[in-house]
Amino acid sequence: MTTVDLPLLPLGRGVDLTSERGVECPGDLPAASDPDLVARARAAKAALGDKVFVLGHHYQRDEVIQFADVTGDSFKLARDAAARPDAEYIVFCGVHFMAESADILTGPEQQVILPDLAAGCSMADMARLTQVEAAWDALTAAGIADAVVPVTYMNSSADIKAFCGRNGGVVCTSSNAEVALEWAFAQKEHLDGGGKVLFFPDQHLGRNTAVLQLGLSLDDCVVWNPHLPGGGLTTEQLRDAKMILWKGHCSVHGRFSAEVVDELRAAIPGVQILVHPECAHEVVLKADLVGSTEFIIKTIEAAPAGSSWAIGTELNLVKRLAAAHPDKRITFLDKTVCYCSTMNRIDLPHLVWALESLVAGTVVNRIEVDPETERHALVALQRMLDLPGKSHKD
Ligand code: SF4
Repeated sequence: MTTVDLPLLPLGRGVDLTSERGVECPGDLPAASDPDLVARARAAKAALGDKVFVLGHHYQRDEVIQFADVTGDSFKLARDAAARPDAEYIVFCGVHFMAESADILTGPEQQVILPDLAAGCSMADMARLTQVEAAWDALTAAGIADAVVPVTYMNSSADIKAFCGRNGGVVCTSSNAEVALEWAFAQKEHLDGGGKVLFFPDQHLGRNTAVLQLGLSLDDCVVWNPHLPGGGLTTEQLRDAKMILWKGHCSVHGRFSAEVVDELRAAIPGVQILVHPECAHEVVLKADLVGSTEFIIKTIEAAPAGSSWAIGTELNLVKRLAAAHPDKRITFLDKTVCYCSTMNRIDLPHLVWALESLVAGTVVNRIEVDPETERHALVALQRMLDLPGKSHKD
């Protein structure tokens, strides 16, 4: 199978419903300057009552988070949605792959709505099904696919999760990547030389987990570049590797640098560096603490008054943590790193439009995973849910 090169779609323009990338909003949005937006959102939500359940990812804007019935990371939110079978409408203030996961984990009669279809995830888009299937074909041709277990990060499209379900693989989150990798290697431990993991889309989470938690070496890891023939790797490199990392990254967390960590340590005496495992390996090596968004929140909540922190994760969350903990000095790790542009696509006008449309009896921007994809994706998600309870830093 050949890899299809995709044309670039500027956010909010063009149509590609199978991807995480932008599509045009089909509705008439209220103006962002409308002073009544807050009152309109409140009224629409009140009119819908228990029929609607609004989920807010930690990286969402304050103007949106104020209307969330529950906040959390992507997996917690999908589980929260599944725990509300009475809610007819799930309005997901997050990005496309999260709404897909919520649709997979909720009942068929529940409708999941993403207020702006342009809210995708650049990382999820770095592993397309055609590319992953081409990589799998290459591993088969090299005679090693039987030793490989595919592991996908939650931040991937539903068809990638389904690929893992069909091929003996599993989904993981930043909270349980360690146990998911242990499980994956255990599936092939009967083989001579043990097994291998093909990990996508985030090379950093894969590398940080394999090296810092499973004790593999950097030499055990190779990077598969989907834009090069054979991933840019020789058959020998593939045979020797334990971790085959997809060449993908988060466009927010991938921008933090080790130099800034040094500068902040020099500038703020006693500062503790707290980062997400989507950051590059050299940044994580210099940090004091590494963990998921939920771990970052709990760490700051438990931190003593007067302590100093520099946090490497999405800016909306860091600003909210700083506002909620004025007794602690909380700094964003890098002034040149900005908000997640796709998370920020969900704003108050889009939320008001989605809610008022529901009040008027129209479901807009429904995210619906086809039954076949859903069936296989659920297999990989269920394997994750069945993992032993040990959860890293969550
Ligand atoms: S912060 Fe990174 S991983 Fe999360 S939605 Fe944005 S681009 Fe994707």
